[in-house]
Amino acid sequence: MISAGPTREPLDAVRFISNYSTGYMGALLAQEALRRGHRTTVVSGPLQELLPRGAHVVPVERASQMQQALRRLAPQADAVIMTAAVADFRLARMVKGKIARAGALRLVLESVPDILAGLPRRRGQIRAGFAVETGAVLPRAAVKLRRKALDVLLAQRVEKTGAPFGRQAVRAWLLQRGGRVTDLGRVTKSRIARAVLDKVEGLCYGQTTQI
Ligand code: C5P
Repeated sequence: MISAGPTREPLDAVRFISNYSTGYMGALLAQEALRRGHRTTVVSGPLQELLPRGAHVVPVERASQMQQALRRLAPQADAVIMTAAVADFRLARMVKGKIARAGALRLVLESVPDILAGLPRRRGQIRAGFAVETGAVLPRAAVKLRRKALDVLLAQRVEKTGAPFGRQAVRAWLLQRGGRVTDLGRVTKSRIARAVLDKVEGLCYGQTTQI
């Protein structure tokens, strides 16, 4: 089970809050999972990338829809890999129609629920997350790994080039439960897809894999 892309939270009838995620990482993970023979479901926000043929795709838009789809489907999965960039804020009160442009606009936003942290977990299921950080990447990522009770967390640094959004190479680290950190250096997202699946497969099948 893979989640991909951004989510969108409507501001009014014609506008939304979202982020720069394109879905490239999710598409590569799905491609690699299928290549390895896994039955693959992708719960996907609106993407700029095509998902591979053979994946079962569940399209969603808002975080609440992604949460609902994952809650329904995740219990069947051996592994959940959450690469979606969930738009973390939504309007505290929905606006009907289109907000007219008239000077400053004050919006009150609230946080959306943490989907991954709250997902019921099937016994033995492996959980992987992705984190995008500015500043101190590793300490922040380590906190997320623990808080979300993950087995694997792929941490990436936000760069001036716009990485990790889109197709460019990224600066990445792979953290594991128990504290092990592997510095992947600057890597392509195809390499990240292989590294994450190697690790997830290793944990599912009880092997130790070397990356
Ligand atoms: O907290 P942060 O957004 O950095 O966490 C990243 C991980 O948590 C990603 O795997 C992302 O898909 C997931 N996430 C989530 N629900 C949210 C925010 C992030 O499941 N509301």
